[in-house]
Amino acid sequence: MHVTFSARELEFQEEVRTFFRDEYPDDIRKVMDSGEEMPPDMQIRWQQILYRKGWAATNWPVEYGGTGWSPVEKYIYAREEGHANAPLFIPFGMTMVAPVVYTYGSEEQKQRFLPDILASNVWWCQGYSEPGAGSDLASLKTRADLVGDHYVVNGTKTWLTLGQHADWIFCLVRTNTDVARRQEGISFLLIDMKTPGISVKPIILLDGKHEVNEIHFDNVEVPANNLVGEEGKAGPTARCSCSMSAPTQPTRFDPNTAQINFVSRPQNQYAARRRSKTTATSCASLRPSKSNSRVLSTPNCARSQRLPRAMRPAPSHRS
Ligand SMILES: Cc1cc2nc3c(=O)[nH]c(=O)nc-3n(C[C@H](O)[C@H](O)[C@H](O)COP(=O)(O)OP(=O)(O)OC[C@H]3O[C@@H](n4cnc5c(N)ncnc54)[C@H](O)[C@@H]3O)c2cc1C
Repeated sequence: MHVTFSARELEFQEEVRTFFRDEYPDDIRKVMDSGEEMPPDMQIRWQQILYRKGWAATNWPVEYGGTGWSPVEKYIYAREEGHANAPLFIPFGMTMVAPVVYTYGSEEQKQRFLPDILASNVWWCQGYSEPGAGSDLASLKTRADLVGDHYVVNGTKTWLTLGQHADWIFCLVRTNTDVARRQEGISFLLIDMKTPGISVKPIILLDGKHEVNEIHFDNVEVPANNLVGEEGKAGPTARCSCSMSAPTQPTRFDPNTAQINFVSRPQNQYAARRRSKTTATSCASLRPSKSNSRVLSTPNCARSQRLPRAMRPAPSHRS
């Protein structure tokens, strides 16, 4: 593909190039170039530099703080970001829960959660998988029972990437067991990790690293207004967060191969390629069954992208 930029796009390219040259801190650059694990405070510092520049939310709608960039501008940015070998955003807040909140959340939820995600003031993690519910997410057992104005949550979530740093978790929980199909009765709940009754247990992987965790909920009280979307109908919200995390966004230009890689996942130092693929698989289990096979699209947050596509291997384009 031969790409010709307009004068305005060339000007933008120069601005982005200058920004990465002058504003990308040397200490963060050194860690990235060494391939070592990025300390969370460094990761956040970089995300906040982008926030102050107004370049944090490249894919959000402008009204919530998105850049409003055209696809070509996103391409230019991704290319310069790749040349600079700058850290990618941790996806859980910016690209997974935020699209759910601005698409399905109430006005109050948007005002409460989006500014902190945009400014990287809050670290999120994803609570979908359970010891007995991975690919078959519809069999999840973590319960949230409505008692007055709050839910009481009990259960266990597993494989939570970087959950040890998380301030908040977005969870799929069962709010109703009396359902015709087990894909129903599942809700999308936002939970403050400081709530009493939550315990985080590290899972040490074969390489000896602590990247993933198991989280237990023991009678955890969650305000009912932390429910996003309709109770018992988490399918669209869950697929929204998964498709935003699926490898279909041009986020990284590889100067060595001159290819744009379509990835949206934690940085390679968090070794999460497998997570991104398998999470898309999990969300597929929340699709309607064939007998009821209307494909549910995910409005606003993944217009052209439906789950089967998200599950395909990451495409790449030569510039
Ligand atoms: C490093 C890492 C980080 C992760 N981070 C998170 C996170 O932050 N939050 C989160 O919620 N989850 C996370 N996960 C979980 C992940 O996204 C998957 O949901 C989960 O790994 C899949 O479940 P399982 O491991 O129980 O495998 P299973 O579901 O038991 O699957 C085992 C194998 O069987 C295959 N299989 C399953 N069902 C079928 C079928 N019907 N037909 C054919 N083959 C099938 C699968 O492809 C797989 O190879 C993470 C996983 C990893 C490895």
